[in-house]
Amino acid sequence: MTQRLRQCPRCGTLTPAGECCGAVLQRAKPWRMTKQLVRNLHIFAMSRKGLDAETYRLQLERVGVTTSKDLRRDAYMALMRNLRALPDSPRWKPRGKGRAVA
Ligand SMILES: [Zn+2]
Repeated sequence: MTQRLRQCPRCGTLTPAGECCGAVLQRAKPWRMTKQLVRNLHIFAMSRKGLDAETYRLQLERVGVTTSKDLRRDAYMALMRNLRALPDSPRWKPRGKGRAVA
C-alpha cells in the first residue's frame, strides 16, 4: 500500500508525519481541474494563442489526455508550458479591454 504522504506548505517536504515546520499538515487533496482552471485554460489556448479546436485537442493529446477535465497537475503544467511556448494570436490584444473574441 502507498503511504499517505502530506506536503508541508512551508518547506515542501513530503512526509508521513502529521506536522512539519511547527504546523499541523492537512492531508493533501487530490489535485484536479476546477471550472475556473478549465475556463482560464480555454481562454489562454483559444483566445490568446488562437488555437482552433483541432489544434487544442492535439495539445491535450501531447500531455496524455483527451479533455482538459482529465488533466492532473503535472499534465496541466506541461500543457501550459507547451502553450506558453506558442506565439500569441495576432488578434490577441493584451491591453485591449472588453474586446470581443470573433
Ligand atoms: Zn516543513
